Amino acid sequence: MRLYDTHCHFETASPVEIAAILSRARAAGVEAVMAVGGSPALNAAAELAAEVAASGEGMPKVCFATGFDRDQVRDSCLVARGSLGGADESRTTNHEPRAIGEIGLDYHYSPETREAQRELFGAQLEEAAKRSLPVIIHTREADDDTLALLREVPSRGVIHCYTGTPEAAKAFLDLGFYISFSGIVTFRLADNVRAAAAVVPDDRILIETDSPFLAPVPLRGKVNEPAFVSHTCEFLAARRGVKPDDFAALTFANAERAFA
Ligand SMILES: [Zn+2]
Repeated sequence: MRLYDTHCHFETASPVEIAAILSRARAAGVEAVMAVGGSPALNAAAELAAEVAASGEGMPKVCFATGFDRDQVRDSCLVARGSLGGADESRTTNHEPRAIGEIGLDYHYSPETREAQRELFGAQLEEAAKRSLPVIIHTREADDDTLALLREVPSRGVIHCYTGTPEAAKAFLDLGFYISFSGIVTFRLADNVRAAAAVVPDDRILIETDSPFLAPVPLRGKVNEPAFVSHTCEFLAARRGVKPDDFAALTFANAERAFA
C-alpha cells in the first residue's frame, strides 16, 4: 500500500518525537505526508517535520504548508509582514512551503469574527495566487462565503476534512478543487459526509488524518497520527467497491497533482 496523508499537524517541536511519528507512518505504508501549519507554532513544526524527514532514514517524503487559520485573526498583520515562509532570507532552511494552509473560515466556532476571517482568508488567497501555490482550505458552516471568495480570487488546491453538503462539494469541484476526507467519514453518525464523498470523482478525492485529532474508526478516541490514514483508505475503498491498494494509488496520484 502506498498512502499519502494530505493533511496532518505536528504539535510537538521535538525532532525525536516527530521522527518517531514519521517512522510509524512509513511502516504503515505512508510514503508521503503534507505537514500543515495554521499558526506560528504549527507553521514552524510543519517545516521542522520536513527537515526531520529529509535528514532521516526510513521516513516518508514530507512537504509542508504554512498559513494562518481563522483563529489567527487577531494577528492578521502576520500576512502583511510576509511571514508565510519562503520569503525571509534569514531563515536557516532551504525548504520552501509547497502550499499555503491551512486557511479559511469557521463560523461554527467563531461566528463573531466573520468579517476579520474573510479578510485574513482573502489576503492569503491573493498571496497564494501571487506565488502560484495551491491552498489548503478549512471551511465549516461557511461554504457560501468560502465559494464567494474563491470566485473572487481564482485559486487551486484542496478543501480539507470535508464535512459539507454534496451540493457544496460539487461547487468546489466545479472550481477545480480537490476534496479531502478525514477519519470523520468513518464515524457512525457521519452519513452526510459519506453522501458528500459519493459525489467526488476518483480523480479529485484525497484522504487525510488531520492528526493529532479525529482518529478514524476503529481507533477513534486515540491520539491520531499519519499512520492511521490506512483506515480511512480502507473504509472509502470498501464504499467505492475498489481494492484498498488501488484507492491508495489513485489518491496518492491525486495528491501529487493537487500539490504540484
Ligand atoms: Zn487541519
